[in-house]
Amino acid sequence: MQPDVVVIGGGVSGLTAAVDLSSHGFSVLLVEQKQYCGGRTHSFIHKETGDEVDNGQHLMMGCYRSTLKFLTTIGALSAVTIQKNLSVAFLHSERGLFRLQAVSLPAPLHVLVGLLRLKSLTFLQRLSLLRVGVALLFARPDDDTQLQSLTVSEWLAQLNQPEVNKTYLWDILAIGTLNDSPSVVSAALFVKVLRSAFLGRRVNSSMVIPKRGLSTVLVDPAVNFLTQKKSAVLTNTSVDRVVIKEGSVVGVVLNSGETVSTRAVISAVPYFDAPRIFREGTQLSELQSSRNFVSSAIVTVHLWFDKGFVGEEFVALLDSPIHWVFNKSKMYGRREGEISYLSLVISGAANIVEREKEEIVALAISELSRFYPRCADATLIHTLVIKEKRATFSPRVGVERFRPSHTTAVKNLFLAGDWTDTKLPATIEGAAQSGYACSALARRVLRNARDDRHL
Ligand SMILES: Cc1cc2nc3c(=O)[nH]c(=O)nc-3n(C[C@H](O)[C@H](O)[C@H](O)COP(=O)(O)OP(=O)(O)OC[C@H]3O[C@@H](n4cnc5c(N)ncnc54)[C@H](O)[C@@H]3O)c2cc1C
Repeated sequence: MQPDVVVIGGGVSGLTAAVDLSSHGFSVLLVEQKQYCGGRTHSFIHKETGDEVDNGQHLMMGCYRSTLKFLTTIGALSAVTIQKNLSVAFLHSERGLFRLQAVSLPAPLHVLVGLLRLKSLTFLQRLSLLRVGVALLFARPDDDTQLQSLTVSEWLAQLNQPEVNKTYLWDILAIGTLNDSPSVVSAALFVKVLRSAFLGRRVNSSMVIPKRGLSTVLVDPAVNFLTQKKSAVLTNTSVDRVVIKEGSVVGVVLNSGETVSTRAVISAVPYFDAPRIFREGTQLSELQSSRNFVSSAIVTVHLWFDKGFVGEEFVALLDSPIHWVFNKSKMYGRREGEISYLSLVISGAANIVEREKEEIVALAISELSRFYPRCADATLIHTLVIKEKRATFSPRVGVERFRPSHTTAVKNLFLAGDWTDTKLPATIEGAAQSGYACSALARRVLRNARDDRHL
């Protein structure tokens, strides 16, 4: 096979690029080193229960336009639920349940009124949220160097946010979307996220929730789409190196030793894998910066009980080392009375990730019992702890200037992936946007080459 384009890496960025190229009539060879595609978004079947288990719970939002376009193209839009109005539950162990609920007004009033009704804060505390709202309206996160020099904590302090606003709202949103401590992550990126979600169209702020495992929703339909077009997916195969001659990519060498000739290459591998495939005289200056990235962990504790005791579909725990509880039974539409499956998420988990799994399960159970006393009546049947040590790059202040652009000094070589210069944190949406951007660039190069041949 001599494909028009080789895409290296079968995560969301690689799949998006490959699907888009295929839908424009180009042949693609997608090479994935693991036995399965999906990268950091994948699921597998839990042997004991038959449940689809994600490597980690993923939430998307209505502002994930590229992701929604990708899901539409691969025919998987029906595999997610898009909330009609933003609705997020917060649980305090003593004060009970609170809800951030957008109302039926045009954006941004729909969220603003929702924030002003947030009962976990006093009236004055809620009023002070307006300072953040006004700052968001006028912020220019891509150009404002002062904002770009601040951490989320520093920015919130400048906006005189009371401590309780931080711990009961902003920090939860910041850790959830940026996956590291608000004391280190970039305020500019947080502003970008909040603006994308809360401004613009009403649907932007709605949560998009997978109804099935991640592979069923995002990966398998994409692989099927590719194989039905004139493209191929090679799993269990890694690209050993990219061959560049006279300023042009001419092919890739697989770990089998085989060389695949091609007219363009999209690298869709994470920052820590990229330098490996561009070596031996093909070292790209764009990749020198990858050493400035550090990763941040996410730990997910999957628990199965003989009966259910969590009412909500998903809920943020206030004042807890566990950030979110996802009621997978409810998300998967299981009937009440059946075995209950919960996923507990700890983001920015540097302090937890090195602990023994038994210790992490004990912490999870003790927190669940604190928030849900009825947990004591349920019997724990199965446990599974998944540690993703390199879940995302940590979007610390200053890291933006090291994110490489999609184009490189080599005219037919492009870089995709959540760590490239998407101006978004490491998310499915950033990955999908980078995939579409690289597909467009590759198509232009291929079309120009075709036009040149016809001259
Ligand atoms: C636990 C967890 C929870 C998350 N939660 C959310 C969330 O709620 N919402 C959200 O939007 N995002 C979330 N994310 C982030 C999101 O999953 C990532 O940003 C996104 O999946 C990254 O996609 P990618 O294609 O850039 O990289 P990856 O998914 O890492 O894909 C890269 C692929 O390249 C392959 N590869 C590497 N080297 C080679 C080689 N030499 N040859 C062939 N293949 C190679 C890898 O095996 C991998 O499959 C979460 C991530 C994790 C881990």
